[in-house]
Parts: sequence; C-alpha cells; structure tokens
Amino acid sequence: MSPRARICPVFVPHLGCPHRCVFCDQNTISGAEAPADAETVRRALAGIPGPAAETELAFYGGSFTAVPERVQRELLDAAADHVAAGGTVRVSTRPDAVTEENLSFLKAKGVRTVELGCQSMDDGVLLASRRGHTARDVRNAAALVKRAGLRLILQMMTGLPGDTEEKTLATARELAALEPDGVRIYPAVILKGTELYRMWKAGEYREHTVEEAARWCAAVLPVFEERGMPVIRLGLNPSEELSGGLAAGGAYHPAFGQVVASLRFLEAERRLLADGPDAGEADILVHPSRLSEAVGHGGSNRKTLTREFPGTKLRFLPDGTLPEGGIAVEIRRRG
Ligand code: SF4
Repeated sequence: MSPRARICPVFVPHLGCPHRCVFCDQNTISGAEAPADAETVRRALAGIPGPAAETELAFYGGSFTAVPERVQRELLDAAADHVAAGGTVRVSTRPDAVTEENLSFLKAKGVRTVELGCQSMDDGVLLASRRGHTARDVRNAAALVKRAGLRLILQMMTGLPGDTEEKTLATARELAALEPDGVRIYPAVILKGTELYRMWKAGEYREHTVEEAARWCAAVLPVFEERGMPVIRLGLNPSEELSGGLAAGGAYHPAFGQVVASLRFLEAERRLLADGPDAGEADILVHPSRLSEAVGHGGSNRKTLTREFPGTKLRFLPDGTLPEGGIAVEIRRRG
C-alpha cells in the first residue's frame, strides 16, 4: 500500500483514553458525538469510491490499543471484507498503550500503520499537559511498532504548557531519531471548554500565537525534511466550528501551512538579499505554484523586504525550472 493511499476516516473520539489531556476535545474536533461502532465502520467502507486495495481505513481520535480487545476485535472484524480485498487499516493511539501482543493482534487484523500521539519529548511538558506518559514510553512504543514491521506515524505538538522553542526543536530531533514514516505537527490551539482554556483564562497558560507557532514550525520542518521524512499534516484541519469560535485562542489558522511556508520563504529571501549589494534591482525567483507564498499573504513578504532593503528594487517572478517542493528561491541581480 502506498503511503499516499486514500484514507477512509472513522472517528472513535476518546475511545480508550484513560483521561482528558488538557488541550483535547475530540468530539468537537471530529464532529462525532459518539465513538464509531461496527455498523459505522461498515457504512464508511461501503461509501469508498475506489478499490479497497488503494484505501486505508483509519481509526482516529481515540486511543485504539487502550480499548478492551473485545471492542478492538469488533471494530476490526467489521473491516474484514475490506482487508480481504487488499485494503489496510490504520489506528492512532497513546504511547503507553502499545504492547508487542496487541501489535501482533492488530497486524493479523489488517493494521499496517500505527499513529502515535507523542506531543512532546519533554517530560515536564507532558506532565503539565496531563498526558499521563513519558518520553520513554514514546521511545518504547516507536521501537515496538518498527519491530512489528508496521508503518510508524508520529504526532507532535508545539506550544503546550511549559514548552519552549528549544524544547520543541529537541522534540523534533528526538522524534526524527525514531525514524518515523511520517510526522504530523499540531501547534496548540485553545479549544473552548478544555482544561487548557480554563488554564489560559486563569492566567496559568501563555497562549501559543499563530506567529510564534509559525516561527517554531519553520525551525522544526527542516529537521524532518533533511532526513526525507514527510510531514503529512501541519496544523489542525480547518473547520467551520474552529473558525466560528471553537478555537478561542492559540495557533489556529485555516491556512497554517501557508503561513509557515511564507515565513520560510521570507527567511530565505532575506538571507539571499543580505548577501548582495545594498542597492540595485533584484528578481526573486520561485516555482510558479509557490509565488503567492513567496510574496506573502497580502504582499507581506514584499513589504517586509522593501522596508529592510530600501535601496533594492524588488520583483517576484515565477520560474518553472526551480523545484516545486521545499523552499527553493533564487535571486537574479539586475543593473
Ligand atoms: S490527546 Fe489523545 S489520549 Fe489525550 S484525550 Fe485526546 S485522544 Fe485521548
């Protein structure tokens, strides 16, 4: 199954979770009132447009391996036809709920990918976020998943209580060392009704702003990119609920990935311009599909660079010969 297989999501909000982590509200994030049952799984699979062999059924929003085995079996057995037709299954879970026995049970039922919610590799941050596990649990769980021959996806968060840019970077480096097949990065968002919301209102938690989260993520992404590890998600999936007030504060932006990309382009453009003469004309070249990120939302990068390099006349131009991926930018001096 290719890593780009179509995902058929089934939400099991908080199923198996021993308690609530301070930032979490899977019911409102997923829009699912109650965890899926066998019938929900069958219905979801019946709605898949393409072949089963190109689809991965994904149980999201809970701690799958912490659910009683009878329930895991019930949910996975509902996908038996899907697995028999070549389809696969993915589960997300907590690092302290992974055992060798459970992984071999999951494997036998068609599970090929395990997503681990790690959030941080700093034990102080994990404690303050009431995760109920340690960084050591993450290392153990990741090793077990790899040893079982399953694909490993790691999730991390930035800006949780007690987090700093240094701790976030150290988390990214530690997670990269576990050799995941992919990574999801979620900056902390303050959801109404969560413990994090209460802490914020009580002055016990400093908000992780969009600007701060973008800076930290811009620093973290190269850690994974340099090792060829795909970052498959950056920021929460936008939704009407989040945009409509559920995200009371913190690092929610409907196009967070673009905000980070624009900042990374600005940093690259700034470095290249600083290397040249103070005056003259300069063309900033990027792949056509990345032009708007290079210019910045509402021309923000253009404005910043014009202010910082007042003697240089700037033009942003598309150049199809440059790579589309990463942050590829070149400067052509004129005159
Ligand atoms: S973060 Fe994970 S373990 Fe914590 S409450 Fe949410 S779903 Fe459960």
